[in-house]
Amino acid sequence: MQLVFATNNLNKLKEVQSLIPKHIKLLSLKDIGCFEDVPETQLTIEGNAIQKAEYIKAHYGFNCFADDTGLEVEALNGEPGVFSARYAGEQRDANDNMNLLLENLKVKSNRTAQFKTVIALHLNDKLETFAGICKGEITTTKHGDKGFGYDPIFKAEGYDKTFAEISLDEKNTIGHRGKAVRQLVDYLNTLDI
Ligand code: IMP
Repeated sequence: MQLVFATNNLNKLKEVQSLIPKHIKLLSLKDIGCFEDVPETQLTIEGNAIQKAEYIKAHYGFNCFADDTGLEVEALNGEPGVFSARYAGEQRDANDNMNLLLENLKVKSNRTAQFKTVIALHLNDKLETFAGICKGEITTTKHGDKGFGYDPIFKAEGYDKTFAEISLDEKNTIGHRGKAVRQLVDYLNTLDI
């Protein structure tokens, strides 16, 4: 069975690929000749995941799933949330985003935060969603050079290392995306495919 993972983010692809059973051939957007920016203009993480999956199905005809992720910071009323990619501007730069978040949290004592991933699966004209949450906190400085995005400033609950200091397998075990992908895999395993 072939399934498109609607992302151009190679880090996400690497994380997800290692969790998907071998009998499912995962295709990237590049593999299906999609080089455009897939629209994500909704006001919720779930809405964006659904929008991306529906767009690929409608324009390219493939069964597919899409992931949308946001970092929700308690002291900032859930921001940056659905705006995580563009938090510091349209350049979508990870360092700019982290610097702005650290600056905005300077005066706050509560550094509690969570990553939330929603995966939308568009399979044989049926839509399903799966959510994964990882609770933790925002560090005061960046640590580590693994991972991507906000990983250098996020520590999962009970961990003394950031996501950028742990291995991909460890991040997949405790992380938001791993949790959502395992639900997706459980669902796919219930189907006769
Ligand atoms: P999107 O899901 O690709 O739209 O991601 C939204 C923002 O969250 C981007 O700035 C990503 O770099 C960041 N992001 C998504 N997933 C992760 C993650 O697993 N760790 C750290 N940052 C992430």
